[in-house]
Amino acid sequence: MTEWVEEALLKLDQSRLRRRLTALRPLSPVEALIFGHRVVLFSTNDYLGLSQHPRVIERVLEFTARMGLGPRAASLLSGYTEIHEQLEQELARFKGTEAALLFPTGYMANLGILQALGTDEAHIFSDALNHASLIDGCRLAKAHVHVYRHADVDHLESLLRSSRAQRKIIVTDAYFSMDGDVAPLAEIVALKEKYGCLLLIDEAHSTLVFGRTGKGVAEHFGVSDRVEFQMGTLSKAFGSLGGYVATSRKFKAYLLNRARSFIFTTSLPLPAVVAALAALDVFRADPTLHAALCENIELFSKLLRRTSFSGRVKTDKDSRLQGPIFPLIVGDAAIALALSERLLEAGYHVPAIRPPTVPPGTARLRISLSARHHSEHLHGLITVLADQWVRAGTHCSPLLVM
Ligand SMILES: *Cc1c(COP(=O)(O)O)cnc(C)c1O
Repeated sequence: MTEWVEEALLKLDQSRLRRRLTALRPLSPVEALIFGHRVVLFSTNDYLGLSQHPRVIERVLEFTARMGLGPRAASLLSGYTEIHEQLEQELARFKGTEAALLFPTGYMANLGILQALGTDEAHIFSDALNHASLIDGCRLAKAHVHVYRHADVDHLESLLRSSRAQRKIIVTDAYFSMDGDVAPLAEIVALKEKYGCLLLIDEAHSTLVFGRTGKGVAEHFGVSDRVEFQMGTLSKAFGSLGGYVATSRKFKAYLLNRARSFIFTTSLPLPAVVAALAALDVFRADPTLHAALCENIELFSKLLRRTSFSGRVKTDKDSRLQGPIFPLIVGDAAIALALSERLLEAGYHVPAIRPPTVPPGTARLRISLSARHHSEHLHGLITVLADQWVRAGTHCSPLLVM
């Protein structure tokens, strides 16, 4: 009766697409024990090291000792506390919107927003390389979904022009975490206004990373106040857990009445809420954290340019925004996996990203930097990678998609 499971697993094994869990023990923001060995992590989204910041931990401990862990109910029952309200207000103030609404995760925020907005009279216009949570939100919505070619505003406009929908919603990642490039937000905002659309942007990887004050890609392009829904997560640079959307009071009221992934689930645990508040305070009080991340990005970019594989690292071509994510396109999933294993043996954790997370034939190593990496970590990774690249080199499939 369950042979189909074994068959499915076997197929995954044969195509080198099977995933496994590896339990690690965190040692520092950028180091962990894996299989008993100390390794440097180039695999977390904790870009500023806030998940282990002493001031964040101190506030979480102090608050948790007084208030406990649990929200104990959904937000609309008794799970919404003063500290949840305070975080929503802080996020709204930070993003420059009237209001913000918290969700248990960023994934659930995207599901809920798209399900609530995407009723059957709506059309959704979605970038082909959007994050899985946006894709799943589109699937959950009753709306008709148009997928436009990645970052292709001409294609987007042709789809918008031919749509007769009463409500049009454009949806895009702000910073594409598997591709290291940013959405052409200035052009997208212009189109949204021309065609009377709503715009949802996902700033999961770009908040606290891009923009003069860390608001994200929308701030970089100067369009923050023209975006209806600025979604983000507390689980990446914030170093905590949770999702949110910064929006108007009216849309917040609508979402909290209609977004099922908000209504029918327990609210965020109190320590996660306090951690996010503390992280935002630390971020604003200590500009050296962000400066250290920028320095690492610059140094790593410089080291990469000297290597033979620099042409295979995807970057943002138009706006020249280089973030902390460096996707190194390998092509073949088996080779990407083998490279990742060799790097791990040498003490560097760099995950291989394979289909279906990325399109077939575009398996990659995804290197993500933190403010807390030392320059020796960056030099070390480049050296090992260069060596392993030569060994794997002749087997790497030709680059089809860059
Ligand atoms: C990680 C991520 C999410 C989901 O956020 P979680 O809080 O981890 O659920 C949503 N969108 C993008 C672009 C992401 O990278």
